Amino acid sequence: MNQNFDIIIVGGGAAGFFTAINLVEKNPKLKVAILERGNEVLAKVRISGGGRCNVTHACFEPNELVKFYPRGEKELRGPFHQFSSGDTVEWFQNHGVELKIEADGRMFPVSNSSQTVIDCFLQATQNLGITVLTGQSVQSLFRSDNFWKIETQKEKYLTENLILATGSNPKIWEMLQTFGHAIVNPVPSLFTFNIKDSRIKELPGVSALVTIKVKDTKLNSTGPLLITHWGMSGPAILKLSAWGARILFDKNYQFTILVNWLNDVDTSTAEKILKDLKQDQAKKAVSKKSPFDFPNRLWESLVLASGIESETKWADLSKIQLQNLANQLTNASFQVNGKSVFKEEFVTAGGVNLKEINFKTMESKLHKNLYFAGEIVNIDAITGGFNFQNAWTSGYLLANSFF
Ligand SMILES: Cc1cc2nc3c(=O)[nH]c(=O)nc-3n(C[C@H](O)[C@H](O)[C@H](O)COP(=O)(O)OP(=O)(O)OC[C@H]3O[C@@H](n4cnc5c(N)ncnc54)[C@H](O)[C@@H]3O)c2cc1C
Repeated sequence: MNQNFDIIIVGGGAAGFFTAINLVEKNPKLKVAILERGNEVLAKVRISGGGRCNVTHACFEPNELVKFYPRGEKELRGPFHQFSSGDTVEWFQNHGVELKIEADGRMFPVSNSSQTVIDCFLQATQNLGITVLTGQSVQSLFRSDNFWKIETQKEKYLTENLILATGSNPKIWEMLQTFGHAIVNPVPSLFTFNIKDSRIKELPGVSALVTIKVKDTKLNSTGPLLITHWGMSGPAILKLSAWGARILFDKNYQFTILVNWLNDVDTSTAEKILKDLKQDQAKKAVSKKSPFDFPNRLWESLVLASGIESETKWADLSKIQLQNLANQLTNASFQVNGKSVFKEEFVTAGGVNLKEINFKTMESKLHKNLYFAGEIVNIDAITGGFNFQNAWTSGYLLANSFF
């Protein structure tokens, strides 16, 4: 039985490393070990952000930052006042990693390489004497007196403090259930929509600023939509997939969306605009040029879908055709049949019930000296660096709570 460690962290990912480094930086006497089941640590950091690691987001106001979390918005408010994206930037700067802001607010290492973050973490753990043990898959956990007994396939450990940073690992969630913790059923988040529809079939690569609603629900989102070979993607779709993760799962990813290609223009206003165009451009062919701020190819497709032939002049539009077109522009119905991954990036909605965690310390409310960091809890965000921010914030808070 290995009893050499004051604290054992299970999971050598973003949250596990960040927690370990902050713990020992604040108290160099602590003996801390990370147990990682894989042969490699920080595997997700490596592939994150297309190999560039989107470390955080340039949203520096905690009350604004929480709005990017479909699950965790309320609980993260306090923690973000302790350690927010601005603190992340400073932390990495102090550890030799400069971050830069991209036009959409995402923040990456100046090097454009996730390896910079990995090197930073590995160097820090080495300098601080943190033990990193790979190939150690935790098989079982026991509580014995004031200690946690941890069994991997290779070794047994005894420690006073146990930190679980195992991400979305079903086996660890099952173990936690045996300790009385409730696990919110895990479902995927951050996905794109599969749609087969003649209106968009020939338009991969076309994008527009839209508002989308999911029919028969309260779900809606606004932002850029990108037409792909298999359906629709882009920030507006990803936001819907995150906010609707559970509802869309319950619908088995079979549902109808209503797209407003004119974003905030309603159907009757669109009809008025079209009537004015009928007067002003009477002799021109309707399909030839988009009068709106989106690509001609999309306009032409919507015109044809409204039952208007490609050579029809504005003057010859019937009342019905005009109404059809206004409807296609502002309330176009598309059937979604399934989902696909977005650039291989995904997170899991679900995990340890937030009511069972003390968000000042990240300690379990059910068991003393049991802590959580990162994606293992029922918190997840939309894409943009927010998911890592949750790992950094929970790790920092947890480390702070020991002193
Ligand atoms: C392809 C991809 C790209 C992404 N890009 C970004 C991005 O750029 N920015 C962003 O903010 N988010 C991104 N995300 C989300 C982000 O990676 C996660 O939210 C984040 O990694 C969660 O960190 P974590 O430490 O909680 O969990 P993880 O990174 O999943 O780490 C958990 C670790 O625990 C280990 N483990 C699990 N079970 C056991 C066990 N029983 N015993 C021992 N070890 C165990 C795992 O092997 C793993 O190493 C991306 C996700 C994916 C899939």
